[in-house]
Amino acid sequence: MPKNVMIKEYAEILASVRSYVEDQLELGFSEEPITNQNQASTDSLFNLAESGGIKTYNSMDDIRKAVQECRACPLHKTRTNAVFGTGDENTKLVFVGEAPGADEDQQGKPFVGKAGQKLTQIINAINLSRDDVYITNVLKCRPPNNRNPLPYEIEACEPYLIAQLKFINPKIICALGTLAAQTLLRTEQPISRLRGRFHTYQGIRLMPTYHPAFLLRSPKFKKDVWEDVKKIKAEYDKE
Ligand code: URA
Repeated sequence: MPKNVMIKEYAEILASVRSYVEDQLELGFSEEPITNQNQASTDSLFNLAESGGIKTYNSMDDIRKAVQECRACPLHKTRTNAVFGTGDENTKLVFVGEAPGADEDQQGKPFVGKAGQKLTQIINAINLSRDDVYITNVLKCRPPNNRNPLPYEIEACEPYLIAQLKFINPKIICALGTLAAQTLLRTEQPISRLRGRFHTYQGIRLMPTYHPAFLLRSPKFKKDVWEDVKKIKAEYDKE
């Protein structure tokens, strides 16, 4: 077999193995816990912020500036742009994804690639627009080659997310995918078990659902996401 054909075949095999592993991870079949049980609970992180153990901020602009200047983990070396978040900072509904991909890194905005188009469809399906909600990620910088975020990267970056959520103080958080759900809820439970019902995060209702990128690979899970976002919209419309 010619060498170039062989290389192409290997690349295709690798891509399909990668996509299979990503699907398994998204469904929660992970041997390695994504969150570390010894990590501080969200409660204590909030308290740490209050007691001065974690930097406190006076405004969202202060947090944005800190993110843009952040060098807390090596991802700052490979980023084009840090991706802070976009949308309404006074919203009732915040979507939290995993980490910027290549398009997001280029544009400095979250969810602007293919997964972003899917997220826009999901938001529009509940009669909202991206301007009505706030969209951000657990990690603010792109992991090279879109690899999964490492525990110490999550630990370094999460204080920014906590600070953003404290400022916005939304009524509802939608955690998109395993990493966001497990990080925010301090759990190792699979997303398939977490989704479909509200959890509580600092007194805020939190609905985990599948990540839009996972839906692109596995459209049969669309109906589950639809069920989840209908519950979010019902909660959003209350009062
Ligand atoms: N996937 C994410 O989790 N976040 C983005 O911003 C883009 C893709």
